[in-house]
Amino acid sequence: MFKLYNTQTRKLQDFKPISEKVGLYACGPTLYNAPHIGNLRYFVAVDAVVKSLRLFGYKVNCVMNLTDIDDKTLKGAREQGAKLKDYTKQFGEIFFEDLKKLRIDSIDKFPRATDYFAQMRELVAILYKGGFAYVADGSVYFAIGKFNGYGDFAHLDKEGLKVSARVDNDEYSKDNPGDFVLWKADPHFDAGEEGINTGNFSGEEYEITEKGRPGWHLECSVMSRELLGQPFDIHLGGVDLIFPHHQNEIAQSEAAFGKKLANYWLHCEHLLVDGKKMSKSLGNFYTLSDLEQKGASPDEFRFLALSSHYRNKLDFTQNSLLQAKESLKRLREFAFKSAEQSKQDSDKFFATAKDNFIKALEDDFNVPKALESVFSTVTEAYKNSYFGSPAQEYLSYIDQVLSIGLKVNTKGEENIIYEGEISQEIKRMVLEREKARQNSDYGLADRLRSKVNDLGYDIKDEKNKIRISKK
Ligand SMILES: [Zn+2]
Repeated sequence: MFKLYNTQTRKLQDFKPISEKVGLYACGPTLYNAPHIGNLRYFVAVDAVVKSLRLFGYKVNCVMNLTDIDDKTLKGAREQGAKLKDYTKQFGEIFFEDLKKLRIDSIDKFPRATDYFAQMRELVAILYKGGFAYVADGSVYFAIGKFNGYGDFAHLDKEGLKVSARVDNDEYSKDNPGDFVLWKADPHFDAGEEGINTGNFSGEEYEITEKGRPGWHLECSVMSRELLGQPFDIHLGGVDLIFPHHQNEIAQSEAAFGKKLANYWLHCEHLLVDGKKMSKSLGNFYTLSDLEQKGASPDEFRFLALSSHYRNKLDFTQNSLLQAKESLKRLREFAFKSAEQSKQDSDKFFATAKDNFIKALEDDFNVPKALESVFSTVTEAYKNSYFGSPAQEYLSYIDQVLSIGLKVNTKGEENIIYEGEISQEIKRMVLEREKARQNSDYGLADRLRSKVNDLGYDIKDEKNKIRISKK
């Protein structure tokens, strides 16, 4: 059985799923900018967690929400003079493009907050009727003093808790806890005009302006319950969401329904750049396309993100990126080499290697430890010439979680048929081309192919063979 660290209990715990299918909710992006590499590090961590669970044999239903309405998106749309939907759409597209580049393909559903307005209105009404909410200035607030245990999750100092203060902003700090907004009056926002279905407004027992929108925290309470039920198994987020976001999700959901929201809470640490917090003003703020322009590939960034445990800070430096590049190169060279025949029986060796890999992951998703086992496996394999299909199977196995292009789909020397006399130069280029294909460098592969063609030779890719002949 594997163990995971639960923020709620501050302990490593055995995992006991509620049912056959594990329900996992990960707070997703706010669609007001292109994700920065700190966000991307977190998305990679979510992907590795889900893929590890699947490797352990669990079925998983993974939901990641898209915040397409909150303080930041509304501000951005107003500044651009755009409709909210059009404004958030552009950032949604970049987000999905980045996920694809980073091979993050384990998430099943991406609900958008604007599709759940009716259910959000309903939750506000339940909280109001239950005596947990009140109206002030046309907005509805959650009274934190009414919820027993408010602050426990985030370890707030209860002595200093000022329950009289009200907070309108979606984001605020631990030093400033207060009654937070569930439904925010906004005279400039008309959901109907924005094409948002607000559901049935009648039947609510309080007088508030129709012009308004949900608080950010409310969105996650509603979408997780709608798609996973309550309680569900695992809730993921960045450490900066522990307070107020997750504390408030817990207060809303548990006050309304008298049940736990989630059984395990996982939090991913920050990414630093050269030991400092990333910020636009420091000029150390990067997106994936910034890295690509500097010549780094998405796979290299993914590898770097995986090389640090999700509960540790990751220091992004030029050097760490170079190291990731080198390490990835070494693994891919091994993948290429694995197409050769093994000199000895290596089944047992790779079975043990798989075991070491999964055992590391069972220790609170310790990917860096799993990677360590991979590199010592590779070193041993070279020493003993353990290649061939057991090595290839091993690589496919670990790539189910790592997703860094280790699945062997290239052919080694023994699969290449040379018809007639072929010069060493051509043979070298054919092998180079296979290597390039292994590295998903299709541009280089194509260039090598036309070079070989220009020199008067044909390359035919067949099912398990490559045939080289003179034209
Ligand atoms: Zn959330």
